[in-house]
Amino acid sequence: MTTSSGLATKAAQSTDVSRERTGLRWENRAGTASSFPSRIVKVSTVNEIVAAVRQAALNGEQLHATGSGIATTGIAAACGVQIDTSQLRGMVRVDDKAGVATFLAGTTVDEAVAELEKYGATMVGAPGDGEATLGGAVSTGAHGYAPREASFSALIYGVTLVTTEGQVLTISERLNTQYLPAVRLSLGALGVIAEVTVRFRRNKALRVSRKRRDIERLIADIPEARAKTDFYRVDWRPHTDQAFLTVGWLEEDQPAIAAKTPPAELEAKPRKRSRVRARLAKFLPFLAPTIDRVANLFDRGDSEGVRSKRQISGDADYGLQVEYQFPTKNARAVVAAIEQLVAQDKKKFAAANVRISLVAGDSVWLSPAYAQDVVAVCMQLPGNFTSDNEKALREAENLFIDLGGLPNWGGWHTLNGPEAAYVMPRYGDFGHIRTDLDPHGRTDNPALRRLLAH
Ligand SMILES: Cc1cc2nc3c(=O)[nH]c(=O)nc-3n(C[C@H](O)[C@H](O)[C@H](O)COP(=O)(O)OP(=O)(O)OC[C@H]3O[C@@H](n4cnc5c(N)ncnc54)[C@H](O)[C@@H]3O)c2cc1C
Repeated sequence: MTTSSGLATKAAQSTDVSRERTGLRWENRAGTASSFPSRIVKVSTVNEIVAAVRQAALNGEQLHATGSGIATTGIAAACGVQIDTSQLRGMVRVDDKAGVATFLAGTTVDEAVAELEKYGATMVGAPGDGEATLGGAVSTGAHGYAPREASFSALIYGVTLVTTEGQVLTISERLNTQYLPAVRLSLGALGVIAEVTVRFRRNKALRVSRKRRDIERLIADIPEARAKTDFYRVDWRPHTDQAFLTVGWLEEDQPAIAAKTPPAELEAKPRKRSRVRARLAKFLPFLAPTIDRVANLFDRGDSEGVRSKRQISGDADYGLQVEYQFPTKNARAVVAAIEQLVAQDKKKFAAANVRISLVAGDSVWLSPAYAQDVVAVCMQLPGNFTSDNEKALREAENLFIDLGGLPNWGGWHTLNGPEAAYVMPRYGDFGHIRTDLDPHGRTDNPALRRLLAH
């Protein structure tokens, strides 16, 4: 299978002239961060990135890349030239023998998954967030729901990076390998990722079942779930002791069956219910535990079927997220602390959801799963970024830090460089690679200064 998709052809046909817009305010989707870039350059080819980066270097301007703008963290918000990669889309090439496929970095996870499905292939390490771009997902260490798989960053084969001087570098397990552990998760601080090469395997059907379980029991069963399942995700309304476990197994000899029901229909009712729950809980916060118990009753407890991973989501109403990742042994303490936190302030955490997933350890320098398997615990809040929601995110984050967690860089967090360097053994090495690839600090912005300063 060696091919080029229609999307790629379209991208290649576009002109080298970047479309520039000025005087625009940029804001991420959750509204947690905004900026006034001096220019927004929408790129659709690698050459356009090179031209935009060289022009910025000539002008002495700062620059940074953005994908879909989903990250709840502020790292995508910066002044200077914004390289908007949302039109940089499509498959570039596939190497069937090596089991790798290269996509332009602005391709979303859902688009790349759909493109691979045409060839009967599944992306290894596909992030759970289908709307994220591959470039954004790699830059923040996004992960999926396969408990024995590491993060997407750890599992990609390589990237094409346009450095801040406009040099095009292929970085993979065979070329410029010295940069790989840093560029796999780079927070946008090493230049603009133009292409991402992912691994794929032959499609297999995923048999999924959803069960209602006691949260305590789920936590006790984590080691077994990690060893025996191919899909694992817990959704827990933390005012109650019941949670919903979605668990799945790949079926060896069955080809993947695209589920008949389109995702929108599958999710329509639960989404409507989750909105009603959020509104009710907001106006009657003292009733939050009762509302959650009733919501649990309406949730489909036991169901089973063959699903595509894309059809198991449900995050759309939760733009505000703070996720920290913990050694497995800390999971019980984290759950107990969350129970206490939400009970103390029902108003702030009304209609909160907690998503628990499992991520395998890796050797990516800035990864929260560096050298250890982790349990990822994500506090999700409905609504906008109000001061109450910000306080709630802060409280959850403080608790997560106290319990030995490290952040998912795509979620909301306030960690700073010295704190990160204290707990992440290869943090300093990342700084050295950054000095090599961005010697003049052209990708600097307030969030990166907070994160990378010592
Ligand atoms: C509803 C929701 C669900 C989510 N689910 C999950 C999940 O299941 N698992 C998980 O791990 N995360 C999850 N996330 C987090 C999400 O995957 C990350 O925030 C991801 O970075 C978003 O990608 P993006 O394209 O929107 O990136 P942006 O928000 O646009 O950018 C994020 C960072 O990446 C950098 N960047 C983006 N593109 C490039 C590029 N081409 N070159 C260099 N740097 C670049 C930016 O500078 C910035 O630092 C979720 C987020 C939301 C809001």
